[in-house]
Amino acid sequence: MPVVTEPRAAPAPPTGRPRRQRVVVLGSTGSIGTSTLDVISGLPDRFEVVGLSARSRREDLFAQAARFRPEWVALVEGDGEPGELLPGVEFLTRPEEVARRVQSPDVDVVVSAVVGAAGIRCTWAALEAGKTVALANKETLVVAGELVMSLVAERGGRLLPVDSEHSAIFQAIAGRPEGIERLVLTGSGGPFRGRSRAELNDVTVEQALNHPTWRMGPKITVDSATLMNKALEVIEARWLFGCPPEKIDVIIHPESIIHSFVEFVDGSVLAQLSPPDMRLPIQYALTYPDRQPCPARKLNWRELSAFHFEPPDRQTFPALDLGYEVAARGGTAGAVLNAANEVAVDAFLDRRLPFPDIVRACRAVLDAHTFDPRPTLDGLLAADRWARQEVRRWTSLNPPARRP
Ligand code: MG
Repeated sequence: MPVVTEPRAAPAPPTGRPRRQRVVVLGSTGSIGTSTLDVISGLPDRFEVVGLSARSRREDLFAQAARFRPEWVALVEGDGEPGELLPGVEFLTRPEEVARRVQSPDVDVVVSAVVGAAGIRCTWAALEAGKTVALANKETLVVAGELVMSLVAERGGRLLPVDSEHSAIFQAIAGRPEGIERLVLTGSGGPFRGRSRAELNDVTVEQALNHPTWRMGPKITVDSATLMNKALEVIEARWLFGCPPEKIDVIIHPESIIHSFVEFVDGSVLAQLSPPDMRLPIQYALTYPDRQPCPARKLNWRELSAFHFEPPDRQTFPALDLGYEVAARGGTAGAVLNAANEVAVDAFLDRRLPFPDIVRACRAVLDAHTFDPRPTLDGLLAADRWARQEVRRWTSLNPPARRP
């Protein structure tokens, strides 16, 4: 398997003290974004915030600007008025401007924490400019993994995983990717673990959002309930670690303490353990290859009694099959699955689609799409647009009452 990245030494300034890394946080008001700023505020000698972008949470964004004093902030779905923003902080409103700013020579690290395929444009721009990207936006790799990994290799950037499972694997590999037999992604199983297929027909939005171990945004929480999150993570691991899907396993581990395993050819297995707290993988991506004290919760070994494992129930949660299928096919399949899932999850959250239909709609759209094995980035974005339309068409043709 190829090496994910090689660390590059920070430039040594004349004073002998490394200069602070200049960080842009894309998606700064979401769950990962706020945790990132929490980590950065604990390491003021290492990092400074130069740019923050959010979709629509204006007050939160402006409060972050007042606290971190970035050079610019961007609100891509707002009224375009800077209003009460601090003087001296530039106010951007267009994604193209953000994409241009992340390429600036002044930027060292871009934390990509936007939800969904909307995160691709700026992540791509950062990698195009050879930046270090701490990637929480797994959709970038689900949609365009093959092209993104080629771009990283071509432009000399670095892609460091923030997703807890992929961070665990990255930590276990520790820069030596030789001799890997198998990657084992762990998953909590979500709020509906142990239920039968029939029992999922009437689950509510509130039940789906009640995750047993992680506190996250609504999209990824619903993905965890369908196991689509694990399906997307199989695809993410396939590209990030260059690992064929038949060497990627998924195991349910309800405690969410072991974040993943790597099995090596000699039979040795390395894992990474910590309480479910995203600040640890975020900080590791930022300080890699160094380790620093972290605000994340620590394991209390006296309170631990047992770890449990079980195979995923692929009858009840067919999303995993879609993940493996898409990881094996590559091409436009990831863009189509991801877009279909985004629209279907939105419809579920709006109470327009029953829970089991999220994955059913994804299956239907994936089956209806004209597969292209070697798409360009534009081709992937076109496949994404097509899939969004197709889900809307599928749901309008199949109102809940008439579905089998
Ligand atoms: Mg994860």
